[in-house]
Amino acid sequence: TKELQKVYRMGAEEVHALKSVSIEVNRGEYVAFMGPSGSGKSTLMNIIGCLDTPTFGQYVLNGKDVSDMSENELAEIRNKEIGFVFQTFNLLPRATCLDNVALPLIYAGFNKKDRDEKAFLALKSVGLDDRIHHKPNELSGGQRQRVAIARALVNNPSIILADEPTGNLDSKTSYDIMDLFHELHQKGNTIIMVTHEDDIAHYSHRVIRLRDGLVESDEVNPNPTVVDKSAV
Ligand code: ATP
Ligand code: MG
Repeated sequence: TKELQKVYRMGAEEVHALKSVSIEVNRGEYVAFMGPSGSGKSTLMNIIGCLDTPTFGQYVLNGKDVSDMSENELAEIRNKEIGFVFQTFNLLPRATCLDNVALPLIYAGFNKKDRDEKAFLALKSVGLDDRIHHKPNELSGGQRQRVAIARALVNNPSIILADEPTGNLDSKTSYDIMDLFHELHQKGNTIIMVTHEDDIAHYSHRVIRLRDGLVESDEVNPNPTVVDKSAV
């Protein structure tokens, strides 16, 4: 991003959520955004994830300027490139895990058989192949988050964006999620997550701190926490 700005207009009021943010993230990086509440983290994530567009400035993704693209073009990039994980999971309560995970594939134009097969494999990859017919309220918080991650992965996106993925989880479950992210990073995915927690941020390889819509610091983590299954 280059001198990215986001202004929310609500009637006569304006909120400068991002004042001038210039950052570059390379393919395959594992980055954490930190910073106080209201500093612009989610706003930035939404722009990076093509859920929203900047008011001023430039956002280049895979060499293409996406700042001024139409909603249709953005939707296509979202479907192909990006997996989004939200703090509140955003699962459909009446749909089974399988249907929740298969949902993005409808927009991508796959037939039912392919959708179910891909959704099953995604659920399997997060260790939930024995829960495919459960509904979200029949699962624990950690399992719900894993369904949300399976849904984010089902399109095989190169970029995983996670806004407070462990915000609602206990530490053991958070650890499992970090384990999954570690695997995805090993496979070459780009991972960007927002977190308030230092020990979660410490799994990433680079920590960018925002404050008042500006980058306060941008540092390589020389010694990321190692995910060690034998320690659990
Ligand atoms: P938190 O840690 O609490 O999630 P954040 O860093 O993610 O905070 P943002 O959600 O990016 O913060 O919000 C940045 C600023 O923009 C805040 O002042 C917020 O009130 C404002 N804001 C965010 N979304 C909107 C919106 N849709 N309309 C108007 N103002 C918004
Ligand atoms: Mg936020």
